[in-house]
Amino acid sequence: MEVINTTISEEDIAFDKEHLWHPYTSLTQPLPVYPVESAEGVRIHLTDGRTLIDGMASWWSVIHGYNHPKLNQAVVNQTQKMAHVMFGGLTHQPAIDLGKKLVNLTPKGLEAVFLCDSGSISVEVAMKMAIQYQHALGKQNRSKFLTLKKGYHGDTSGAMSVCDPVSGMHHLFRDFMPQHFFMEAPERGFEETLAAGEIEDIEMFFELHAKNAAAFILEPIVQGAGGMRFYAPQYLKEIRRLCSMHGLLLIADEIATGFGRTGKLFAVEHADILPDILCVGKALTGGYMTLAATICTRNVADTICNGEAGVIMHGPTFMGNPLACAVANASLDLLQHSNWQQNITSIEVVLKTELSKAKAYPLVKDVRVLGAIGVIETTVPVNVQETQAFLVNRGVWIRPFRNLLYIMPSYAMCKEDLEHVCRMMVEVVQQEHCFNKV
Ligand code: PMP
Repeated sequence: MEVINTTISEEDIAFDKEHLWHPYTSLTQPLPVYPVESAEGVRIHLTDGRTLIDGMASWWSVIHGYNHPKLNQAVVNQTQKMAHVMFGGLTHQPAIDLGKKLVNLTPKGLEAVFLCDSGSISVEVAMKMAIQYQHALGKQNRSKFLTLKKGYHGDTSGAMSVCDPVSGMHHLFRDFMPQHFFMEAPERGFEETLAAGEIEDIEMFFELHAKNAAAFILEPIVQGAGGMRFYAPQYLKEIRRLCSMHGLLLIADEIATGFGRTGKLFAVEHADILPDILCVGKALTGGYMTLAATICTRNVADTICNGEAGVIMHGPTFMGNPLACAVANASLDLLQHSNWQQNITSIEVVLKTELSKAKAYPLVKDVRVLGAIGVIETTVPVNVQETQAFLVNRGVWIRPFRNLLYIMPSYAMCKEDLEHVCRMMVEVVQQEHCFNKV
């Protein structure tokens, strides 16, 4: 593809600095942002002519790569029919097709699909479903949620209230947010088993708090933005067992892990459990548009509909947006017709081989890989600005946070590109200026 270099004017960059919030940034001390001209495959083209191999897949979402002809075509085709139409009292083929695909792809038993705007909103909807479910059963006291420390579920207020209480800035919003119950974050890694005492600790947590709770919400297997931690499937099995025993619903937030990222189509499959409610987003549209879904079992749906309200109490303006549904359908078709499992296994092998080389350096605390997720945890916080400048000069795009350098590339990334990204990450851990002194 021909790359046409245009430059965004100095004036426009100044406007951006002064007027546009970027995620988690200051308007008084803005960090540099790199102007992008276009992107295709796994490459991002900057306006200054530099090209970057993208290790982030735009925060887990662009699983097939940028500017994909099939996804582009799906957008064009749908735009020619209708970009949007309200979902209240109307329906359309893209939403019906997407509903069918989600019911078929997600673990058997998840049948009722709520299409919503973003990952955070899908978590809000899941929490509201759980409250409505308990209310319908006459359990009005069950208004709390159980969750894990070091979790992340989004930035809207309900979702934020179940994010890690320390990194989630609970103290700042203390008087505004509802208080929920946080279990210690899982300590056992993906391949480990729990000791008897650890299972008793989980049981004790349920004994103490379950009676007031509507549901347990967690990110299965991978705690993402809360620390890029991978944990043992046995936790999921135990939590599933205890939720059923104590009358709680289990909400699996697969917004980051869904659609193959961990090597299974959904991370709950590692533990062979069925959640009552599943949240998906991010990769759903191949990163083309914001769209998410909250999918629950027939039992949850029926109970809600037999309750006081008789309906689900949510219905946003852009619910089931046809353009987003059409591109999601095209993205799921691509995924299903690709060798995604083989691709992810190949990515995992490269990540393990290349990133393990970082272990030789004193700033590195841990290296871990699961599916198409590779993490280098360092002993001190990464200086994001210095690291990005270093990597951009070497043709790589990643966005570290705290003491984590991590990648979750497009499933379409070839071995050579992936090796380059990994090698540059290993270069970073040898650069003292890329880290903050503590
Ligand atoms: N849950 C998880 C596990 C996530 O990783 C994210 C986004 N990083 C969200 C929820 C929120 O999704 P969104 O940013 O689309 O609102």
